[in-house]
Amino acid sequence: MKTLLIFVFALLSTNLFSQDIIKTTEGNIKIHPIIHGTLALEYEGLTIYVDPYGGAERFSALKDADLILITDIHGDHLNKETLQALNTSNSHFIVPEAVAKQMEGIDRLSIEIINNDKSTSFKGIDIKALPMYNLPESADSRHTKGRGNGYILTIADKQIYISGDTEDIPEMRALKNIDVAFVCMNLPYTMSIEQASDAVLEFKPSIVYPFHFRGQGGLADVEQFKSMVNEKNSKIEVRLRNWYSEE
Ligand code: ZN
Repeated sequence: MKTLLIFVFALLSTNLFSQDIIKTTEGNIKIHPIIHGTLALEYEGLTIYVDPYGGAERFSALKDADLILITDIHGDHLNKETLQALNTSNSHFIVPEAVAKQMEGIDRLSIEIINNDKSTSFKGIDIKALPMYNLPESADSRHTKGRGNGYILTIADKQIYISGDTEDIPEMRALKNIDVAFVCMNLPYTMSIEQASDAVLEFKPSIVYPFHFRGQGGLADVEQFKSMVNEKNSKIEVRLRNWYSEE
């Protein structure tokens, strides 16, 4: 009985531990969903934060960031309160120009501006900035084309897409060979679960994490999103995680 219990426990803990691990040809990527549109990645001793927000305590189990990516100027993406509470003095920032203009008072090792469709690299990781914007395009939309960045990180043989705040733009639908996609879905700020599932079915990432899904009417129905994706394509793994604990 005792052996059985240990076996069951070992199986469960392996399962829990491995659930957000992405194996690459060179090492494992560990994904940490943090809150809303905020996540962290660990890979071969490197720690990457994306849009750190929600308070420094949420990052307490992680090392200080080597790299911080910021997608846009809004407070759930460029969050000075969280950034100033974290130790960012050894962090390299990659940001769009509009964010760089609002970075005063934030410690950093260095900062690099990349705008839409430009690429750079950091310690062997390639980073490409993609457009993120509302449809139809207009000068007074919440997210105008060209201001914020989505990102594709190429880590060893894996491509990770982080959508930023966007609708189901053609640039997203045209993506190829995405291994892991973080896709936003919250109204009225970004897109509906219908738009998100339709786009995901078109670009077919191997794994998709719905994130950034707290909208004006509460949380989007990500279970329904998962059903809509898997009804038409059962090969896409939809990973539902708790992005909104202790709020
Ligand atoms: Zn947002």
